[in-house]
Amino acid sequence: MQSPSVFALDAKRSSRILSKLSSQAYIRSISSKDRSGWVYVFYEVGSHGGVFKVGRTNNLRRRMSEWEATCSGKQRIWLGALWTPFAHKTEYLTHLELEARCVCRPRFLCDCGAVHIEKFIFAGDPLEVYEGSIKPVIQRVVTSVFADALASGPRRNRVIPTLSKPEVSTSTDSL
Ligand SMILES: [Zn+2]
Repeated sequence: MQSPSVFALDAKRSSRILSKLSSQAYIRSISSKDRSGWVYVFYEVGSHGGVFKVGRTNNLRRRMSEWEATCSGKQRIWLGALWTPFAHKTEYLTHLELEARCVCRPRFLCDCGAVHIEKFIFAGDPLEVYEGSIKPVIQRVVTSVFADALASGPRRNRVIPTLSKPEVSTSTDSL
């Protein structure tokens, strides 16, 4: 594992700020613009060392191709993806929680030309970190957001989608 000090900036905020942001986000009702989708995770070995990327998409296959096309030449290990009815809120809360737990949240100019900020460094074997630390966080957030939506649904007259998996290849919505 490369030292985090090689990064231009560690965007990791304090646990006090992160827990405040997290509480505020949980209190806010789910946006009507929120959509179902996948929260995915891959591990990437690059010139900056090993980092985990956690993102969201409504079309996993397409997003995987896009990563390979727009940020190419990386050794990328796709670790998994979890489906949620509320991908925006789930991704946001997952990012906050991972930021609180990670060693570093690097912000760097990638050789693809983009500044990737939704990446996290954890110490340890990538598969073990995913199974033991990252996946449980996503599962917990998916469940919490969904439970929250169910609890507040009737009061706010919300339409709650069912927790069924869509066909990955049929979705044509943009990211
Ligand atoms: Zn890149």
